Amino acid sequence: MKTFKFFTQISTSHSSEGSLNIQTLRQRLDEVKPVIPISGLIVGSYENKAVFQELTANKRGDDPETYLWYNLLSDYPGQDEKESVITDKGKTCKKWFGWGDDAQEEITESFMFSCPNHPDARQKTLEALSNLLDRYPFDGVFLDKFRFPSPASGLDLTFSCFCPHCYRKAAEFGLDLDEVKTELRDWSQNGFAVSGQTDNWLDALLSEKPALKKFIRFRIESVLDIVREVRKITDAHGVKLGFDLFSPSYAAIVGYDYQELARYADWVKPMTYQYAFGPAGLRLETISLVEGIQKEFNIAESELFAGAGKAVPWFTAEKYSELKDTAVPMEWICSEMAASKRLMGKTPVYFGLECVSFPGVIDVKPDQAAALLSAAMDNDADGAVLSWDMMHMPPENLKAMRSVYDERG
Ligand SMILES: [Zn+2]
Repeated sequence: MKTFKFFTQISTSHSSEGSLNIQTLRQRLDEVKPVIPISGLIVGSYENKAVFQELTANKRGDDPETYLWYNLLSDYPGQDEKESVITDKGKTCKKWFGWGDDAQEEITESFMFSCPNHPDARQKTLEALSNLLDRYPFDGVFLDKFRFPSPASGLDLTFSCFCPHCYRKAAEFGLDLDEVKTELRDWSQNGFAVSGQTDNWLDALLSEKPALKKFIRFRIESVLDIVREVRKITDAHGVKLGFDLFSPSYAAIVGYDYQELARYADWVKPMTYQYAFGPAGLRLETISLVEGIQKEFNIAESELFAGAGKAVPWFTAEKYSELKDTAVPMEWICSEMAASKRLMGKTPVYFGLECVSFPGVIDVKPDQAAALLSAAMDNDADGAVLSWDMMHMPPENLKAMRSVYDERG
């Protein structure tokens, strides 16, 4: 029988250097390890030198594997707005301030995305990654934000990029980005229509938009291109590579292809979050998509659900209310987990399971954490990444997960 692995994340971007130091970290690890057998720690993305050093060069014999959490196309050292993705109307990607004013000082996470085809962006971010691996002997890299903006950033940014570098590269790919622009414009004029027999909502939406369909593929190829460069760097350093992935339903829209990515990963973490309300979470992404489509096509919610029903029959107005008000319906979480496993083939899948309590933002209860772990095990998970910050996981949540783990073996 395979061993179920537990990983956890430590965010140096969400805790100031003063609050996250070696003592607090060691103390927390000593509390967590007897409850949950941790195989891997994912730490980053802000370079907290003392913490990085402690978990790499000063690693102790019984410490878990340590992965560098690295944001490839957002918040890398020296990122410039000139490297941003460009919308069809020439707009760049601005910082995302959806966390509210209070959080802005604590969280150094901008959600400003650079274009994977911009030579300066590529050079800066790949070099910064390589330098970090030169400085600290990590066991691996956990790659995050190696994608295009998502619906949470707005539909115009979701359907980017139209920079000169993308124009050139798309032409080599046999795609004229002006045709994509025309289809995006016609799309708004013709109104919202879903057609085709498919369980993939994006395919259904784009079934009569050949250029847009090819554009989605082009963006996937653009992401794969830079991922291959990352793999060369991790191979040169002799370290592993794990991916932080949007859940399968939202993979293609941000430039991810699970089956292709499986070839470059030692393991992946699909973000099958049930409660989180932020970019990459199924809740905010779905709401942003639904509201974006309503606004773009000027249609009522009932009309949207009548159309969407053809592509995603279970996604009803009632289920949408549940998602908005409380959590993603568990049946959807399970179908995302099953799809992840199917698409990843032999590559190990460690689901991102919420386990944290940040009062006022997210407050996962023990029974909820336990239910998520059960769902992951039901869906043949190879492991779980307890998300997203070990420093903020209530002991009751960890104990509840341990009980599930003991019962299920
Ligand atoms: Zn571009």
